[in-house]
Amino acid sequence: MSVKLSLQKGDITKIAVDAIVNAANTSLLGGGGVDGAIHRAAGKVLLEECIKIRNKQGGCKTGQAVYTIAGNLPAKYVIHTVGSVWQNGTHGERELLENCYENTLKIAQELQLKSISFPNISTGVYKFPKEEAAEIALNSVNKFVKQSNNLILEEIIFVCFDEENFKIYERMMSRIF
Ligand code: ADP
Repeated sequence: MSVKLSLQKGDITKIAVDAIVNAANTSLLGGGGVDGAIHRAAGKVLLEECIKIRNKQGGCKTGQAVYTIAGNLPAKYVIHTVGSVWQNGTHGERELLENCYENTLKIAQELQLKSISFPNISTGVYKFPKEEAAEIALNSVNKFVKQSNNLILEEIIFVCFDEENFKIYERMMSRIF
């Protein structure tokens, strides 16, 4: 079965999927933006689970991903990945952002998930240029899908909260796919 890549505008916490991806930070203790929205909607169990991971492995490095249950969210899991903070592009920011998508999809495969939703990782407080972040997101997902010969995922949703990202994704998705 081939995977469906779709685009939605709005709040990622409202869309039912097997796993919601969180643009977390290395502390895993929650924050603003989408991270804050996910923690608020999930309830305190999410923070408790994140603290357990922190105690075990000391947070999560940039580009890496970990997963927890999803509390009150309409999902089975939250996959927390830490995007790269944009400096000037010479600090491995692109590769690290690519790693986020790849490592998250690896976890989704391991968990045998059928659907997953991604926010626009790094394009808020982490100030990654939106065009480049979208290109990396779409290319990384595309590469992963093409390289997997036993893909369980059936739907990957890109969720854009702001109009600017939505327009960028709309344009790029019609070009890349
Ligand atoms: P980062 O620290 O990785 O930049 P942010 O949460 O600051 O993370 O921003 C990442 C993206 O998440 C931004 O494009 C922002 O518009 C978007 N965002 C914020 N709230 C939500 C939400 N509830 N659902 C989906 N996306 C959101």
